[in-house]
Amino acid sequence: MVSDTKVLLTPGPLTTSTQVKQSMLVDMGTRDQDYYDLVQETRNMLLQIAQADERYYTAVLIPGSGTYGVESVLTGVVKKNEKVLILSNGAYGERMGQICQKSGILYELVRYSMIHQLDVKEIEKQIARDDITHVAYVHSETTAGVLNDIAAIQKVIHRYHKISIVDAMSSFGAVEMAVDELQIDYLIASSNKCLHGVPGLAFVIANRHHLNQCADIARSLSLDLYAQYRFMEDNPGAFRFTSPTHVLRALHCALKEMIAMGGVAARHRRYVKLQRQFREAMVEQGFQTLVQAADQGMVITTFLYPDGFDFAAFYEYFKSNGFLLYRGKLSDYDAFRIGNIGAIRDEDVARFITLLQAYGKGADER
Ligand SMILES: *Cc1c(COP(=O)(O)O)cnc(C)c1O
Repeated sequence: MVSDTKVLLTPGPLTTSTQVKQSMLVDMGTRDQDYYDLVQETRNMLLQIAQADERYYTAVLIPGSGTYGVESVLTGVVKKNEKVLILSNGAYGERMGQICQKSGILYELVRYSMIHQLDVKEIEKQIARDDITHVAYVHSETTAGVLNDIAAIQKVIHRYHKISIVDAMSSFGAVEMAVDELQIDYLIASSNKCLHGVPGLAFVIANRHHLNQCADIARSLSLDLYAQYRFMEDNPGAFRFTSPTHVLRALHCALKEMIAMGGVAARHRRYVKLQRQFREAMVEQGFQTLVQAADQGMVITTFLYPDGFDFAAFYEYFKSNGFLLYRGKLSDYDAFRIGNIGAIRDEDVARFITLLQAYGKGADER
């Protein structure tokens, strides 16, 4: 195996298993039944994880990183005379606003605290507005690591009969999510977060009834969600344009692995345990978390710089010992993040903690 592989404590790309890496050592043609089968199985496994009935939902694959999927939905399902409300509590909500701005989609972005989950009473006032047709938000806001209450938010959206768009990039696969029951209309995620594949493929779990009404809305050719959906339905297993074959093989392998290991419930338990282990070890060394326990998700944790902290030195220390940490993305706080998704093994955690304690001892002597 490549000797400079590191344990990635980042929220995607992330550490992949050996089997997932090996699954990519095969070249495949895209106009071939073997590949079609692989694509269809992958789409079916995604629906299975989403607990979505194939008759009412479809999984549309969009090559690119997660943002390509978000952009394909926003630019592909909001008509000219419609308006999307963006409930933002972090950088990924802000990005939704940028997408709408660029493509001339009518939108209203309402900004909330990045370190708290969305307050359902607060957002209801916005959702109730007559001019709003769609409501978009991020389920797990990777910016600070906050997890929003998807069931409560979906309830309000449905009370007012709006169409829901959920960026579940860093929660799909980590949190049980019955897309059918929650009545999510468009859920977006990607191959390289909690599903443990490699970067290069986004996907949309879409309500067929709504998507069927979205022909000719798209502001983009390659990100045209409806066109991609139609093509995948009419030519099962095919993409409109060259598809990322190796990325798809990796995702297929990662999904099979995940299902065999106990699916979403098992992954959720694993993440909760890992998040706690990292957090406790860090707190023991004097670091403080930015987000309070009630708002904290289980995929990534933000730690504030202690007084006089040299992040660059801390980062380099862990890098030279085989771990990559994650810089902050919060303009208001001096902070960094530790992601705990990916194929992280118990021995990796133990080694991280030993290194962390040794670093603390070094600081005492400095
Ligand atoms: C990772 C992520 C995205 C997508 O980011 P890309 O860099 O395009 O993969 C979107 N939303 C959230 C919440 C994310 O964590």
